[in-house]
Amino acid sequence: MKPNQSTQFAGGKAEHTLQDKVRRDLMKRLLGITAVSLMTPEFLAQAALADTAAKAVMGPAVPDVQPTKLADGVYTIHAHDKFPTPANQGFFTSIMFVVTDKGVVAIDPSASVQIGRMAIRMIKTVTDKPVIAVINTHYHGDHWMGNQAFADAYPGIPIYSMKETAESIQNVLGEEWIKMALKMTDNATVGTKIVPPNTYIKGGDELTFGSTKIKVHHFGQCHTPYDLVLEIVGTPIVHVGDVIMDHRMAGMGDNEGSFIHGIAALKKMKETLPGKTFFPCHGDPAPHILDEEIALFEAIYNTANAAQAADKSMGEATAMVKALPFMQEYAKNTPDYEDSVGKWTSIAYLEAQQANF
Ligand SMILES: [Zn+2]
Repeated sequence: MKPNQSTQFAGGKAEHTLQDKVRRDLMKRLLGITAVSLMTPEFLAQAALADTAAKAVMGPAVPDVQPTKLADGVYTIHAHDKFPTPANQGFFTSIMFVVTDKGVVAIDPSASVQIGRMAIRMIKTVTDKPVIAVINTHYHGDHWMGNQAFADAYPGIPIYSMKETAESIQNVLGEEWIKMALKMTDNATVGTKIVPPNTYIKGGDELTFGSTKIKVHHFGQCHTPYDLVLEIVGTPIVHVGDVIMDHRMAGMGDNEGSFIHGIAALKKMKETLPGKTFFPCHGDPAPHILDEEIALFEAIYNTANAAQAADKSMGEATAMVKALPFMQEYAKNTPDYEDSVGKWTSIAYLEAQQANF
């Protein structure tokens, strides 16, 4: 018997009894409780509140963003903003997807279950093929918090990353990112859970999906210690995660990024992948953004290094960096420049200090 059929003719007390029974069954399932004696009226009142809260705990859907074609079979769902806000519901990380003979491969499905669901809706406007794989370039939450939507829609789907990336997400970082997204978006991302990568890849691997190949590169520590760069073979497109950020200066702190290793990694990328169009998760894809990132890293590190060697203070080093014509030009289109330039210089300064010791 369906509950609402019975409530139609059951009045007063009987109706309450039925609602109580439904609630009791629900709570027993939720809590794994079998002893009915625990179900006092107070407990049931609490349970009813908890049930209502549980239903409300899913942030609003994210508005559609039509995919843009980058190359044959390669698309992006572009994030307009470079930082999360309540207005953009945490959508500040562009998603790439590749349509292959076998199905769709989604790379870095952005920062919430709601954004992941939007991405799946948008992929369906381009192809009927199912999504068959997800790849996460690194452990920052805005690159994997959308995984949940894909794992829900395509049970058992492989989610690829470096082993260390998956471990970082499973440890403290996962929780931190879930909390941070809630705070930055005024709870728009609520309902998002940690779904870590389940299949490990490393630099030098090649993933094959029918006639499409994705070459996996790891050029060393740059933005994090475990950044992957993904070459979509046969197209000009290279997904660089956050190794290049196109006029954005987030991260690098807490031993995540490195200027010394980063400059080496970026130069190795230039040597390995000449003439490519680099797709950053924050900003616009273009060939010139790699040279610009190398120039940015070198401007900051070389200046901080010179300042440190000349016994100048960290504050003086920052002033020297800010006085560079390249930095003044770079600042013009970099929304977080004023907040970040001092932090980046101090990280470079400390690296230089260690290197010169
Ligand atoms: Zn990142």
